[in-house]
Parts: sequence; C-alpha cells; structure tokens
Amino acid sequence: METTGLTIHEMRDLLDTGKISAAELTGSFLRRIHELDTRINAFIRVTKEQAEEAARRADRRIREGNSTLLTGIPLALKDIFVTEGIETTCASNILKGFVPPYDGTVVRRLREQDAVFLGKLNMDEFAMGSSNENSAFGPVRNPWDETRVSGGSSGGSAAAVAACMAAGSLGTDTGGSIRQPASHCGVVGLKPTYGRVSRYGVIAYASSLDQVGPLARDVEDCSLLLQAVAGYDPHDSTSVSLPVPDYRGSLKNGVKGMRIGCPKEYFIDGLDADVIASIRTALDRYRHLGAEIVDITLPHTDYAVACYYVIATAEASSNLARYDGIRFGQRIDDGGGLIEMYRNTRARGFGAEVKRRIMLGTFALSSGYYDAYYLKAQKIRTLIREDFAAAFDQVDAVLTPVAPTPAFLLGEKMDDPLQMYLSDIFTIPVNLAGTCAISLPCGFSAEGLPIGMQLIGKPFAEETILRAAWAFEQEAGIRKGPPL
Ligand code: GLN
Repeated sequence: METTGLTIHEMRDLLDTGKISAAELTGSFLRRIHELDTRINAFIRVTKEQAEEAARRADRRIREGNSTLLTGIPLALKDIFVTEGIETTCASNILKGFVPPYDGTVVRRLREQDAVFLGKLNMDEFAMGSSNENSAFGPVRNPWDETRVSGGSSGGSAAAVAACMAAGSLGTDTGGSIRQPASHCGVVGLKPTYGRVSRYGVIAYASSLDQVGPLARDVEDCSLLLQAVAGYDPHDSTSVSLPVPDYRGSLKNGVKGMRIGCPKEYFIDGLDADVIASIRTALDRYRHLGAEIVDITLPHTDYAVACYYVIATAEASSNLARYDGIRFGQRIDDGGGLIEMYRNTRARGFGAEVKRRIMLGTFALSSGYYDAYYLKAQKIRTLIREDFAAAFDQVDAVLTPVAPTPAFLLGEKMDDPLQMYLSDIFTIPVNLAGTCAISLPCGFSAEGLPIGMQLIGKPFAEETILRAAWAFEQEAGIRKGPPL
C-alpha cells in the first residue's frame, strides 16, 4: 500500500485500527526520502534513528489506547526550529555545528503527542528569500518540475509535503514564506494571526512579522496541525492568551452567506493569465456555494513591498547581530584578535542576501535616515493595517492570488533582487497587518504547474478561512500530488 501519499487524517485511521504501525509508516517515509531527496533537496538533515525511536514510542502509545491526533504521524520541521540535540542551521554556514540545548515550544508540543520527526528541512538562509535559492545547502527543486523553484523561504517544507516525503510540516512566514511555497508546490499552507502560535525556540528574522504555521496535503490536515501548535505560551510574550477554537470541528459548516471580498488592487499588470483565470473560477465556485462576492479596496497595497523591506531588514539587522562567533555555531578565528574574528565569522558565515539585508536594515535605522525610512515605514504599516480593518467591516474573508506567477525557473530571479522581492507582493500585506491567511491549490497553469489562492481572515479568525478553504477544496476536487 502506498501510504506516504495519504493525508494525516487517513493515516490516523490506519494507525488507530492497527492496519499499519507507526514504525512501518515511518519506514515508508524514510525510504521515500532516500529515493527522492537527492533530486529535490528538501531535507538538510534526516534524523533516521530518532524517527525510528519516536515511531516505536508512538506504537506503544497506540497499543495502550492513548494516541492523540498526531501520535505516530511522520512530520518534518523547517531548520529554523531549534531542536534539542539536533543541529539547527537556518540554512546558514554561520550556524553550522550549532546543536541547541532545548526544543522550541511547538516542537515540544508535537513531541508530547509522539509525532515522529523525520528531519530538518531546507529553507532560504535565515528565511530570507522567495525561491529557496539562498540556502547554504543548495536550492530545493520543485517536485512538479525540477527545473523550477519550490518557492521560499519554507521551500523544503512545501516540497517535502508535495513529494510525499513528510505527512505534514511546519514552516514560518514573515512575508509569505509559508503561503508562497505552498502555492508553488500545490499544498495547503496557513499563516496564523500574529500571536496565535508561540515563536519560542524559532530563530528570529523580523520579530514583528514572524509567525509559525503548518503546511499539509489538505485543509483538514492543516487544521489539525494548527490545533496542535496554537495557543498561549508563557515563554513568548507576543503569544496571545485567547482560547484555541476547535478548527477541525467547524470545517464542514459551509460558506452560505459568507461575504468574500475581492480587492481590485490585487489584479495588477504582470499577473499571469492562468493565475487570473484560476482566481476567477474560484470566485465563481464560491458564488455557487452560496457565498457573496464583494468588490473591496485595499488602497495602500502598492506601498506594502517597500514598507516590508524597510521594517523586515531593520529588524533582521538587529536580530542577526547575535551571530558573532562567540555564542552560536561557527567561529572563524585566524588569530587576528576579537574584532578580526567577528569580521571573519560574519563575512564568511553569512551569504550574500543576508548581508544585503543587514546592510539595508542598518542603513534604514541609522541616525538621519531613521525618520525618512523606518518611521515612515511604520506609518505606512498602520495604513495597511487600517485598510484591512476597514475591509473586514464589510466582509468575512478576502480572496486573492498568492503569487503573480506559478513557480519560476531556478536562477531566473537570482541576479535581480527587486524582481525577487516583488514576488511577495500579495502575501506581505497580511504580515504587515498581523492577520491570518491560508494558501490552497486552486488550479494549474498551461504547463501543469500548481496555482494557489489566498484567503485572508480577520485577526484570530483562522476558523473562518479554514472553513472557506475546506468548502472550496471539496467542491473543486483539485488533483493532488506531483507526477513523481
Ligand atoms: N520572501 C520574503 C523575504 O524574503 C518573505 C520571507 C519570509 O516570509 N520569511 O523576506
């Protein structure tokens, strides 16, 4: 039986009825990774022994009748999550050799359920990128077309799930890093509201924007992964103490009477014709399902990318100051003294894009420029947030494309950072506004590449967008799984 292609909820049934053991399931995934990942490069590290051990623990727990939703389910983690005793690099040379002494909160929560971790997933270095080409471990290839990018920065997380090398994964999203790779790889990815999921033990990129979220093969899996990780954490002062709703329980409540906004600012020049067609079809489908489609406006959308690249780089320049060769990972000391050691470690440890961002961010924060750039960006951020607040007075959710085009070719945008930055034009506003959004498959391009759509919800209304996504998924019957 081909078990690696099943959803988590299907695996759950097989595990709980004894039709398969966690050890067998884990074995199938490890074999699949062994066979495929030399091509895809989704994993930075496969933790075979730990996975087999966790599977044995899960099997004992299942036999004792104590299984929870994720007991024995083989998952994988973006290498941005610190994992006790397992090297965590954030896909950077500077962190090679860094073995964290603790598990982050979401990792601990999954471990407590005896979920199985197959390994650590490739990503753009420090989550900076949209194509996974900024990794010290090489790019991730798109399972639907290996000449194309997986998207980024959680490219490994999306490709591993798409290629059935993990049942589900966790990523992080600062400006689109869950939703955009999910879209390019034909899987479902959710960026929760800022504060919904703890970031304790997640390596920081831009702290006012970063959120943790799931990538999965369908909406139901996405809901149960979110369920497992969401909630207040005393270790993260930005996590919010609101009850976690029963996401899965309300999936089937339908969209009759739901008001779905369609913002005119998201239908821009340069938007791929197949993307437009898929979004239009999705809007029709929602009408057919009983939702009401409302034209809305998010007037400050045009400024989002510029605003984001000031705020995100400013925060990154501060967050990445801690990598100095003293405390974490690599130290490159040629015997020239302390300042020389700092200089060598950072010069050789960071990749080109990370350095570019540290310089941009340092510049934006420097005296004399702070008011012109950083302060201005903060004001624009407020306007963008107010755009969404005003839209949500009228509608329950907003439907947009995830990315202007399907997955682009490897190398296509590497020499042009501005073009790369623009590929996040539809995902970035959501992070600036701090609200939630889900990306799910809604069609295919003429070349057979997956196309995703984005449903944006009110703050802490993950339940609404999951419900809308589930209704669409049932109705649309989009083919799952790349031709591997
Ligand atoms: N591509 C965006 C960036 O490079 C977003 C990355 C992310 O969400 N981590 O910053």
